[in-house]
Formats: sequence, C-alpha cells, structure tokens
Amino acid sequence: MSLLIVDQATKRFGGVTAVNEVTFAVTKGETVGLLGPNGSGKTTLINLISGALPVSGGEVRLNGQLLTGKRPDQIARAGVARTFQLVRILPSLTLTENVMVPAVFGAKSHWGPAAEQVAKDALDKVGLAHRADVQAADLTYIDQKRLELARALAAEPELLLLDEWLAGLNPTELGQGIALIRSLTDLGISILMVEHIMEAIRALCPRSLVMNSGRLIADGPTGEVLSDPHVVAAYLGEVDEDA
Ligand code: ADP
Ligand code: MG
Repeated sequence: MSLLIVDQATKRFGGVTAVNEVTFAVTKGETVGLLGPNGSGKTTLINLISGALPVSGGEVRLNGQLLTGKRPDQIARAGVARTFQLVRILPSLTLTENVMVPAVFGAKSHWGPAAEQVAKDALDKVGLAHRADVQAADLTYIDQKRLELARALAAEPELLLLDEWLAGLNPTELGQGIALIRSLTDLGISILMVEHIMEAIRALCPRSLVMNSGRLIADGPTGEVLSDPHVVAAYLGEVDEDA
C-alpha cells in the first residue's frame, strides 16, 4: 500500500499556479528525489504535504488518512516531519530543548523524561549527542542543519520531507550528510527530498520526480528521468532565463 498519496494537488497564489494538478504516490521505505528548476513549485509542494499551506485543489493522504484540511500539528502527529530550506531552530535554547519540542508535539506525544529520551536519541542519530547542553546559537552551520534534522526525527515520522537539506555543505560535510540520510532510510523512514546536488540524488534516490512550472513532468528511475529530453529542456530553459 502507498504511504503517501498526492492526488491532483494544486496551489494558486493569485494568478500564479505554483503547483498544478500534481499526482504521485510514495511507498513505505522509499527515498524519492524531488527535482526541478528554481521556482518550479518544489517547496510549495512540500508545504502542501506538511500542511504549512492549504491546497487550492486536490488532496493528500498518509496511510489512507486524509491530511488535506488538517493543521500542521495534526499532520505532524499523523507522521509527517520536515526540514525547511532556510534552517529554523530556536537559538536561545539548548539542543535538547530544541529537540524536545517536536518530541512532545510529534507522532507519539511524549512527555517529561520520555520526551527527553526521544530528544537524546534523535540527537544521537545525527551525531550531536555530545553537545546536548550547548545553546543552539553556538552551533556551526552544518551542526545547525543536523539539529534541524534531529528536530524532524524527534517527531518520529513515517515520512520525512527534506527541502535542500544538503545545500551549502562543503564536500566532506556533503559525504557525511549523504551517509546520514542513508542511515535514516535504513531505519525504515520514507523520504521525499528536494535536492539540487545530483551526486546526492544519484546516491540516495532510486526514483525521482521532476517539476517544471508547477507541473510534474517526470516520475521514474532517477537515471532515466535525468536523461529524459523534457527534463533536460526544463533545466536548459532555466539557464536561458538566467543568461
Ligand atoms: P521552488 O521551491 O521549486 O524553487 P517554490 O515552490 O518556492 O519553487 O515557488 C514556486 C512559485 O510559487 C514561484 O513562482 C514562487 O514565486 C511562487 N510562490 C511561492 N510561495 C509563494 C507565496 N507564499 N506567495 C506567492 N507566491 C509564492
Ligand atoms: Mg524551494
């Protein structure tokens, strides 16, 4: 059975249709890439799935349960967690405190010591357990990204949405980041990841979706999708616009 079903999802902002009748499904355990030129609607699609934005049309289901119309916290409890394209952490709180918030408001609603344990486990998964009592403001950029991922994991999601989580890392950090995402796949978490770094997409995603101008223009094995003439043309179109 499909874990996630996105059916004819549409989002309009005034005259702009940022996401236009997008339909696909994600099976339990899959890691799927979400590609497309800048402005093609990837972040908006993530926002529709996580409930950060209401749809203008269509629907989203997780394990058959309708998510459309629910609040972001209800969707988090249903099992969807995300990271943001620009890191969002609580700088004045410690790492443990940062990660306890989603442990309390996530899928299993832990409290007190149980929430603290979930937070510690999540920090451990991203390699930050030894810095649990440090203030988030004192972290380097890669560690802030790790912390944001720990916050998503503390919600104990079935589906993790990553929005360019690997962007801005140096080559060594990129290798670590790819290994970290792979370790989450090995834990059985399903992942939909927006990513521009093809090395990461090829390493992590057997299947990819491609958006262009709000529409889904390709969905299939990553190697095939990347050599699809429509996909190549979409990216070349972007280069022309930038020139
Ligand atoms: P991507 O993540 O693929 O770069 P986005 O989903 O951020 O693309 O944006 C898709 C389109 O929707 C763009 O034209 C963008 O300007 C527009 N858009 C995104 N968010 C908003 C918003 N909150 N209000 C108005 N337009 C928006
Ligand atoms: Mg984006």
